[in-house]
Amino acid sequence: MRDVSTPLDMTKKVLLGAHMSIGGGVDMAIERGCSINCTAIQIFVKNNMQWFARPLTREEIAAFLNHVQRGELLSIFAHANYLINLAATNRQFHANSLRALSEELIRADQLELPFLVLHPGAHLGAGEDAGLDKVIASINRVLARIPKVQTRIALETTAGQGSCLGHKFEHLNYIIGGVREPERLCVCLDTAHVFAAGYDIASETAMRKMFTQFDRTIGRDSLVAIHLNDSKTARGSRVDRHEHISKGKIGLAAFRFIMRHRRFRKIPKVLETPKGKDLAEDVMNLRTLRALAD
Ligand code: ZN
Ligand code: FE
Ligand code: FE
Repeated sequence: MRDVSTPLDMTKKVLLGAHMSIGGGVDMAIERGCSINCTAIQIFVKNNMQWFARPLTREEIAAFLNHVQRGELLSIFAHANYLINLAATNRQFHANSLRALSEELIRADQLELPFLVLHPGAHLGAGEDAGLDKVIASINRVLARIPKVQTRIALETTAGQGSCLGHKFEHLNYIIGGVREPERLCVCLDTAHVFAAGYDIASETAMRKMFTQFDRTIGRDSLVAIHLNDSKTARGSRVDRHEHISKGKIGLAAFRFIMRHRRFRKIPKVLETPKGKDLAEDVMNLRTLRALAD
């Protein structure tokens, strides 16, 4: 055991990190995250550009679960494929979405990940109400198929681009309140998305208000993860474009609030900002965020 009072470990206690590539195998994400001192990472559970993948082998699962550095990451969670749309209006697309989501939940469960972040869906012209009801029916079907899976679905707050649902806290509350097994759902808040969706997060006061609204609408305990992204686009633009921390339009107050507030200490906070293979941009963004904490 290392002395926990050293400055290094003080920074390491914050649940902070970034989305990590699984290129070369799911276990590689652990090494990547640890190489830049992450304490939390998010991963895809398969290639993000494809609907389906062959199941994980015993060896792949063991390589991940038994990785010597796995313990250094206090939180590892998953993000679902971007192709999935539980409100899809095309039959085949919808069927693919249900199958892909259940397969990804199974993979995440095999890797013992607590939740899989999912964008609620896009109604594609059917209207918000019809879209939300379709999402509820879809989640019911998926979860009924995999009763033993313990990995929960973390619905993500979205920017509301196009016909995407989830840009209002009320949408997420409606879904959680409408499904048969609400205890299998939770929520991930994305700073760039709530900002683009129109929520004011420019100051400490505004942040407090936004979270009060979140707590009243969805419930304080539903929040299990935060995506820390700055936004290239303006507040209320409804356009989802992530930017490096402090280089976008959000301003530092929102990030300072999240980095300093006790409430978020045990909630994993991960970056989803653009980066190259050497992770230099992650290192830069994590440094900016850690500096805000003290
Ligand atoms: Zn997302
Ligand atoms: Fe996100
Ligand atoms: Fe996004």
